[in-house]
Amino acid sequence: MKIIAVETLELEAPLDQPWKIATFTLSSLTASLVRIRTDDGVTGIGEAIARLGPGICTAVVHEILAPVLIGQDPHNIEGLWEDMVRTMRPRGHSRGYHLEAIAGVDIALWDLLGQAAGKPVWELLAGHGRRTVPAYASSILIDSPERMASEAAKLVATGYRAIKMKVGQSLRPDIERIEAVRAATGSGIDIMLDANSGYDPTSAIQIGRAAERLGIYWLEEPVHPDDLPGYRRVRSALKDVRLAAGEGEFTAAGFLPFLEQGLLDVVQPDIARCAGFTGSRRVAALASAYGVQFAPHTGASGPVCIAATLHLAAAVPNLLTFEDMYIHNPLHAVLLKPLPKQTGGRMAMLPGPGLGVALDEEQLTKFSRGKWRVSGDRQV
Ligand SMILES: [Mg+2]
Repeated sequence: MKIIAVETLELEAPLDQPWKIATFTLSSLTASLVRIRTDDGVTGIGEAIARLGPGICTAVVHEILAPVLIGQDPHNIEGLWEDMVRTMRPRGHSRGYHLEAIAGVDIALWDLLGQAAGKPVWELLAGHGRRTVPAYASSILIDSPERMASEAAKLVATGYRAIKMKVGQSLRPDIERIEAVRAATGSGIDIMLDANSGYDPTSAIQIGRAAERLGIYWLEEPVHPDDLPGYRRVRSALKDVRLAAGEGEFTAAGFLPFLEQGLLDVVQPDIARCAGFTGSRRVAALASAYGVQFAPHTGASGPVCIAATLHLAAAVPNLLTFEDMYIHNPLHAVLLKPLPKQTGGRMAMLPGPGLGVALDEEQLTKFSRGKWRVSGDRQV
């Protein structure tokens, strides 16, 4: 089997109600889809994360990665992954759009292999083999304490046993919001806080002390992702709340200083940023060597990324929990069959083959910013 074409499509869905978090606002949701075709007619679909500028990842796919892939055997995923990384690593591109574009390709290759083998990706990964994974509701956006508390109560009523809420805006109002949500859920529900790197280290320590008092499960991205001294200050001040981070990291090498210095209890790589299944599994393996748990990030991604993350979560031995984005994302309509919903705080695995998702061409047209761009054989 040989790869004969690499295709991309950019998606965008404007939001009626922008997603506002501590450090930015999303007024539309975007995704970069990647499709890989082979000479025997098997195809695979992937998604590169694209919070802004979905055309940048697709340009990387065509300009840099397609020449590496076309003519190659798609079974050799780890070798192709190294070849794709190697194109730009000596040029300083071991983070950013280059790794995100590789993610889209790597996810498509795993889907393709699953399609060829007639097996779901979680089974091909030969990992833990979970048929369901624990999931938490993500995330209650910043609002009045009353409205956030009532949202939390609704989520508990639908079966969630763990809920994440956004903080990171300003210290005292954030503490009032956490107290209101805790009062609404009672003590039997895990609450996570996501600061989206909105605090300075001093504020992060103060919110962390409130989190310890209120029995919060984890504090996520307390300070800027590159602020290692800040993380060290927060870590040394807080002993009774877990620290989670990593949605902005790209490689196992990027996670290494956080792990070596004992700064995190939970790593949160995003499969569509962290170079796909291949890159994310390396992060999971590295974290397990440090006794750190794995809770993959999903956020505002499209449905192919979410499906891929579910397969990854089923396979990774040190999985803690799956981020179930319950907030409406219009891009999820591009699937013929919707993604699974949580029941009793758990998500069932997609059946496959491959990722177990199929695209609805009509809906794709509705959200696409153009036509599929093709590198390779246009006749197929
Ligand atoms: Mg987050």
